[in-house]
Amino acid sequence: TDYLQHVLEAPETAQEKALRPLSFADFNGQGKTIERLEVMVGAARSRGEALNHILLHGPPGLGKTTLALILGSEMGAQVRQTSGPVVEKPGDLAGLLTGMDEGDILFIDEIHRIPKTVEEYLYSAMEDFRIDIMIDQGPNARSVRLNIPRFTLVGATTRTGLLTAPLRSRFTLQTRLSYYPIATMEKIVRRTCKLLGVEADADGIAEVARRARGTPRIANNLVNFVRDYAQQRSDGKITRPVAEAALELLEIDTHGLDEMDKRILRLMAENYKGGPVGLGTIAVAVGEEEHTLEEVHEPYLIQEGYLARTPQGRVLTPKAWQIIGLDHLRDKSS
Ligand code: ADP
Repeated sequence: TDYLQHVLEAPETAQEKALRPLSFADFNGQGKTIERLEVMVGAARSRGEALNHILLHGPPGLGKTTLALILGSEMGAQVRQTSGPVVEKPGDLAGLLTGMDEGDILFIDEIHRIPKTVEEYLYSAMEDFRIDIMIDQGPNARSVRLNIPRFTLVGATTRTGLLTAPLRSRFTLQTRLSYYPIATMEKIVRRTCKLLGVEADADGIAEVARRARGTPRIANNLVNFVRDYAQQRSDGKITRPVAEAALELLEIDTHGLDEMDKRILRLMAENYKGGPVGLGTIAVAVGEEEHTLEEVHEPYLIQEGYLARTPQGRVLTPKAWQIIGLDHLRDKSS
């Protein structure tokens, strides 16, 4: 199975839940986003109003859900969590919203996947705090107006481009989470080790941080495995050699790339001279779903400059040819 997909898309475990930062002060990194959110929370609280609607976007595992929950605790509000595809009918949305108190937060993960029929009801809910639901059919059909409490919608999506313009425009703030720089990843790994009671030295922490793709959820997962490895194959302490050996066993290289990333790059080099290749073609050839390639693998490969997206398809960069050791095959004439 695809290790990254498993880590990034599996439901949250109890242990992961225990690692979630609970306040802005406990949340490392994403400085701009945190400051924007702190300003909005401070202002809403001093006016005694509900927070305005907020859209968080960025790759999976960077802290969108965590921030929604922090917004709840900072506002002293309840957070109700759901996900775009789960809200199938307008009635589902009405059920979620009518059960809320003034100021509560509705967190919709993968909000770009909310069905069109439901999305339209969301507009009036966000803007006017009411939903007009049609009941009955034929000659008896009539619309019933439900007033809903002033709530805050916090939406999460991997890319804002996936949202329709009318939905996007109803969020007061859109803010992007980016992959964490190494220094912040080290802080996060150190914090996780501390919370789990694992002994780790600075080099061990640095090695795990470096290979975690700038993604806290991956870092937490790696710490778990490296801890097990340290306990079984060493004296329980996470050091650089222990981290290196453990991550090699997981087939995660020194750049944080996993086997699937490498297969994608190698396929493009060996079969398509570096591209352009369409996403669908890559997906079939490596035996992975397009969705997973696009949401899990590609964003990091693009961010790190191994892959570029062009209108004709994906292309390898010179850096990618080097990393897979095939630079001698590259056609340097074009
Ligand atoms: P997303 O909703 O963007 O997929 P999550 O909020 O579920 O990401 O975050 C994944 C995990 O990473 C959480 O369990 C949390 O413990 C951890 N995490 C996220 N951001 C941070 C951070 N800034 N500092 C420490 N841990 C974090």
